Amino acid sequence: MSERSYLVQKFARIPVGANHVIGYSVAGEESVVQIPELDVCFDIGRAPYFALTSNLLCLTHGHMDHLAGLAYYLSQRHFQGMRVATVLLPQALVNPVDQMLRCWRNIERQNTPYQLIGMTPDSVHQLRKDFLIRAVETHHGGTSLGFVLVSVREKLKQEFFGRPGQELAALRKQGVEIQYRVEVPLVAYLGDTAYGKVFDNPDVQNAEILLTECTFYEKDHKPRAKAGRHLHVDQLVELVLPNLKNQQIIITHVSRRTGVRKAKAILRKKIGEEKMKNILFLMDFEGSQDAGEIEEMGPPPSDTAE
Ligand SMILES: [Zn+2]
Repeated sequence: MSERSYLVQKFARIPVGANHVIGYSVAGEESVVQIPELDVCFDIGRAPYFALTSNLLCLTHGHMDHLAGLAYYLSQRHFQGMRVATVLLPQALVNPVDQMLRCWRNIERQNTPYQLIGMTPDSVHQLRKDFLIRAVETHHGGTSLGFVLVSVREKLKQEFFGRPGQELAALRKQGVEIQYRVEVPLVAYLGDTAYGKVFDNPDVQNAEILLTECTFYEKDHKPRAKAGRHLHVDQLVELVLPNLKNQQIIITHVSRRTGVRKAKAILRKKIGEEKMKNILFLMDFEGSQDAGEIEEMGPPPSDTAE
């Protein structure tokens, strides 16, 4: 067996502010997006190696190209002594996914631990005092959710500006609310979705980074978009983009029928160069200066039957 006969696959690695978006997303094949600095992975695809390091996994829906690697992700993490991952997923999927993982325990004869947390539209998973994840309803048929990572900050109310620290501490002791709560949506990931009210959600419109699908681009692919409950570029351009205020928009889940290069050209023609400035295609390895790539290799062939 030659040294490089095992899988070599390219993944996107895009720096955005203090974070990176690492991932792979091709419609029907595989979708997995990781923000390593925030310790979160959205969808798991076929469980590429980089995704194993995230302690939190958010699954958007049950299609194979988004979820196939779940058992492998959990098993590998257990095998490598990593802590039990937290998996957020639509409530309706908790049972079937639990059954699948129990089957894998029997097949593998290994007691892989896992924690599944069912989410419903607008439900919140508090990660830390200053950090939460909110589920948003998407429109992909059956049960599907998007997820927004929200930073929660406490700010001093204006009327207390300039007061000495001792005085503020005393007021706080008396039970006076001197601070107010601000939510800053950092990342919104929508998974697969048709056009719908998810795009009116303020968290989605304002997240610093928005990862949205746009699967189809050609005129005669409109029926496909409708049938598969995906976004067509005309909807993105006419209905979605005018309302978005995100610093960075990253488009995922482009169909191989069109390909990223052509998809990008079609979008650019529709909206012009200026509006393309804060839009990237996740899988665009050539066009953008911001998009990098890493080569990810599976482990070398092993003789042991782990
Ligand atoms: Zn899907």
